Amino acid sequence: MARLGSWIEPFPEGIYVKPADAWVDPSEPKARALVTHGHADHARGGHEKVWATAETLAIMECRYGPQDAGCAVAYGEVVRIGAVDVSFVPAGHVLGSAQIVLEHAGERIVVSGDYKRRPDPTCAPFEPVPCDIFVTEATFGLPVFRHPDTPSEMDRLLARLHANPERCVLVGAYALGKAQRVIAELRARGHADPIYIHGALQRLCDLYEEHGVALGDLRPATEAKKDELRGRIVIAPPGALNDRWSRRLPDPITAMASGWMRVRQRARQRNVELPLILSDHADWDELTATIREIAPREVWITHGREDALKHWCALHQIKARELNLVGYEDEDD
Ligand SMILES: [Zn+2]
Ligand SMILES: [Zn+2]
Repeated sequence: MARLGSWIEPFPEGIYVKPADAWVDPSEPKARALVTHGHADHARGGHEKVWATAETLAIMECRYGPQDAGCAVAYGEVVRIGAVDVSFVPAGHVLGSAQIVLEHAGERIVVSGDYKRRPDPTCAPFEPVPCDIFVTEATFGLPVFRHPDTPSEMDRLLARLHANPERCVLVGAYALGKAQRVIAELRARGHADPIYIHGALQRLCDLYEEHGVALGDLRPATEAKKDELRGRIVIAPPGALNDRWSRRLPDPITAMASGWMRVRQRARQRNVELPLILSDHADWDELTATIREIAPREVWITHGREDALKHWCALHQIKARELNLVGYEDEDD
């Protein structure tokens, strides 16, 4: 009998699905690509043909221009590619993010892409799919990584804002996913004031709105007078936190929303005064609970902190393997 999953093969640049002649999230241009979500480390430009959710294709179009070769697959729809039945299931990571479910030769393999289990008002929640092989990320795959709950992080932000009516709070957040989630989470906490955004966030915020994610009153920060920004929240990509752009702001309190804000050194590197731990990846408890729930025969780990998760799998009698894929840097953390 053939080895479990012998019909897919990991290469440094992605996972090759042989009977479909297609790659999952390849980091180099390929003839046929299945793309889990729109972050740049997973969705590269230049493939000849792409299967992804309509939202992911829209994000790719926003970043790389028209995707003529795009083939939209709805959640739950099954498409036959070569000799493989392929479906996309919500991953709860960012708008349109999907786990890719591959069925062939009586085996089911789920490639999770990036995922999280926390509620997120901007995307469909992760759905566990029973399978033979669960191919998982492990960005926060160490027991020290336990993300605090989201409402308490948002309340810390709002408390600091309200205590400093003469200043503004400048929140660094990645342009795809994190920025929109911070805005939607603030709205969910009852913050209805205008939120000012850096120009680099405009198109993706518009795209989220077009796909039904309400973000409330957003205004361009660049057009606002300094006084108008006092007592307001301003959101910008992390790269703008310490550059010239932020000088227009009234004595900003610098915050950043990222799972890595758990690590003090990372907050210091960016001169972050108010670190907000808000991650779009599963933390240690979510990774292990997900593996328990899915109960796969094997776990393959694509990227992140593989060692601890591999060890945990061994303790729980689950065969685990590191794939060491390259180029999956966290655009998103
Ligand atoms: Zn991602
Ligand atoms: Zn990623």
